Amino acid sequence: MKVVVAGGGLVGLALTRLLALRGVDAVAIERMEPGAYVRRGFMLGHHGFGALDELGLMEGLRARGRAIGLQPDGREAAIAVEVGGLLGDLAEGAQVRYRTSVTDLLRHGDRVTGVRVQGPDGEEDLAADLVVACDGFHSGVRAMAGITAHMAPMAEGKVEWMSPVPCPESFAMAYLSNGAHIGMLSWPEGSFGWRTLDRSGRDAVLAPGIEAFVDQWCRLLPESAPGVRALQSADELLYTEPVLLSCPSWWVPGVVVVGDAAHFFGPETGASAGVGLADALALAEAIRACPDDPDAACATYEQWRGPAIRPVEAADPGRRRLEGMPIGDPAPGERWPPGH
Ligand SMILES: Cc1cc2nc3c(=O)[nH]c(=O)nc-3n(C[C@H](O)[C@H](O)[C@H](O)COP(=O)(O)OP(=O)(O)OC[C@H]3O[C@@H](n4cnc5c(N)ncnc54)[C@H](O)[C@@H]3O)c2cc1C
Repeated sequence: MKVVVAGGGLVGLALTRLLALRGVDAVAIERMEPGAYVRRGFMLGHHGFGALDELGLMEGLRARGRAIGLQPDGREAAIAVEVGGLLGDLAEGAQVRYRTSVTDLLRHGDRVTGVRVQGPDGEEDLAADLVVACDGFHSGVRAMAGITAHMAPMAEGKVEWMSPVPCPESFAMAYLSNGAHIGMLSWPEGSFGWRTLDRSGRDAVLAPGIEAFVDQWCRLLPESAPGVRALQSADELLYTEPVLLSCPSWWVPGVVVVGDAAHFFGPETGASAGVGLADALALAEAIRACPDDPDAACATYEQWRGPAIRPVEAADPGRRRLEGMPIGDPAPGERWPPGH
């Protein structure tokens, strides 16, 4: 089976290598330069360890990162790490065409039979028995294939920061009196904090200034004080209004969606990347089991992943708040912006 993987992020890189290990002809198409990535605070949940074990990358991940919690078997529940290092490890040896974008899908009747790409050498058509959309939350391939995606805006906004100063603990999280949450994770080179709050817009969230922000943050989550105290300006705060994503079905003939293109969970789960890596491993196995039949491979994949992913989607705290758990007013000392 010839496979084109649209997107060379965490999931696309892992899938391309896992397919190569199974003797499958697979290439990833990535629009960015080699080594380019979006910096972010990052922890990899245990769901992704199986894929990394098979690729021989777990020891490197442990060496680069810091353990968070424990599973019953004694392994870490998650590992906080600088995400660029993990991406670099995954990219090593992966077959990837960089600086190249997937711009269209090729079709024969109802079946997708490949992709049109635009790269440094111009436009080209690549035939494929299966196109795997690993192109992230805003997946263009998912849209072009007509795969339905349900977008659910969370009721809350989110503010986050990144700091070059690590904290003593690798992870801390607390719930506020109205059920909102505040958290921090820290890897050897830095730390990252996030909290949910009323959707009051970027200008209102930044207006009180960095000193007031840091003061309140340190009171609400003292474990994160060294990291948040290193912030210099309110411009270092990022305000967003998160949207959750789920797809009722993950494939149509010739195209399957995995990773962030298929599901995006709320910030309390910390599970998106790990579940995406587990998707990659399951799809590689499904293709190995059905080497001559992409539709059978996709149906097998969907059968395997449904019981793993649907409960995470259903139990996602971000989603449950949408479904009838009203968010009350925060206590005065927890309110941000303070006069809001
Ligand atoms: C601020 C932030 C913090 C996060 N923290 C965590 C965390 O702590 N734990 C966790 O598990 N997850 C976290 N996530 C989510 C996590 O980063 C993703 O789940 C993970 O990166 C999934 O990767 P992916 O490969 O599915 O998608 P992406 O990482 O989005 O990769 C998609 C790739 O496709 C490429 N692409 C897109 N369109 C095209 C095209 N048309 N042609 C070619 N290439 C294309 C993009 O350039 C990109 O490289 C966080 C995300 C953000 C934004």
